[in-house]
Amino acid sequence: MTGNALVELQDLEKEFAGTKALKGVSLEFLRGEVHGLLGENGAGKSTLIKILTGVYSPSAGEILLEGKPVRISNPPEAHKLGLGAVYQDAELFSGFTVGQNILLGNEPGRIGISYRAIHREAAEILDSMGLDLDIYRLAGDLSAAEMQLVTLATLFHRRYKLIVLDEPTARLSAAESEVLFGIIEGFKKQGITIVYISHRLREVQEICDRATILRGGLVSGTLNRGEVTEDRVTELMVDRNRSQLATYNEGENVRDEVLLEVEGLSTANLAPINFQISAGEVLGITGPVGGGMEDIARALGGVTRHSGSVKLGGRPVSVNTPIAARRSGVALIPEDRRKQALFPSLSVAENVCLPVLGSLQRLLMIRPGPVKSYADGVMERLAVRPRDASIQVRFFPAATSRRW
Ligand code: ADP
Ligand code: MG
Repeated sequence: MTGNALVELQDLEKEFAGTKALKGVSLEFLRGEVHGLLGENGAGKSTLIKILTGVYSPSAGEILLEGKPVRISNPPEAHKLGLGAVYQDAELFSGFTVGQNILLGNEPGRIGISYRAIHREAAEILDSMGLDLDIYRLAGDLSAAEMQLVTLATLFHRRYKLIVLDEPTARLSAAESEVLFGIIEGFKKQGITIVYISHRLREVQEICDRATILRGGLVSGTLNRGEVTEDRVTELMVDRNRSQLATYNEGENVRDEVLLEVEGLSTANLAPINFQISAGEVLGITGPVGGGMEDIARALGGVTRHSGSVKLGGRPVSVNTPIAARRSGVALIPEDRRKQALFPSLSVAENVCLPVLGSLQRLLMIRPGPVKSYADGVMERLAVRPRDASIQVRFFPAATSRRW
């Protein structure tokens, strides 16, 4: 052990009925470092983190905290030891104010709890984090990004030694991510160790002191700051340099007619590519996460700035904005449909009709009759269950919400 390891994992194994999620992971998290954790889906990142925070017990192996073996049987025990985590779905009490959430379980004052004292202290915490948020707002009214940041504020108070952030920027804008990075700097200055799980290589390069790449339940390498390059990470992640885009055309529905022609499509993250898709064809695109493949769909849907030319049925079309893309006949179903494509508290009928509202309106009025019959028709065609268009979207199963 190097002298400044805060946590040392020794030969950790975890077996779920039949699957070995971790096959002997040894790894050190140093005091005050930001340690990136990378790996393809299924590599074992979440399992590792859940063992560290007491959600799972390891099948074999040891965890040393400050040099001493510890047994972390459940999350409260992890908290007591100073090991905290922010998972992707931030948890706050929606009926409480921001201030109450931040101080929950750590309220100042011994007898009774002063509402004012709580909010005064919460304001100080937000201030020290450089966050400008109204502490009296109800948590339920916050945006997803604000929730995420307030969740971090709840950790600030509890004097953790190690904090795990699981894809914290997944829902943050560039500006909000900068705020987050500032907060991480603040944690670092207090000597807190951060384990940072992200699919975004640039972030890892920017904020991590070291990064460990997991592959198939094993550590395939730990890189120092300067060594975290795309090629190196890809090599450790997928065991080969740079996957190639490849096309595969053999389907019974594929017609002998080029429908989409893309030439020189490029974005900030994507070197120019060309491809064609025939009518009726399903084209799969694969590659390392963060290597630019995500931008292809987003560029075609008009969400991401891009250059290059796009032709549909031989005609050049504009996909510069989501609306232009829609008009051209390109629809985008984004990765996080609940956040990016649906309004959870509107009904199914209202969601289904959003893209065609213009055609359903008469004399500037949208009448419920046509909305319902259009939505019923769509649900019938796509065999959506439950077949009730008046239900709010948030009550629908995740897999179903992909269909409209
Ligand atoms: P990552 O977070 O890197 O995507 P995970 O740790 O979630 O990877 O998963 C690693 C492997 O363990 C996968 O093969 C996954 O299917 C399996 N796995 C994870 N959690 C469970 C579970 N609760 N039960 C069974 N298998 C699981
Ligand atoms: Mg995971």
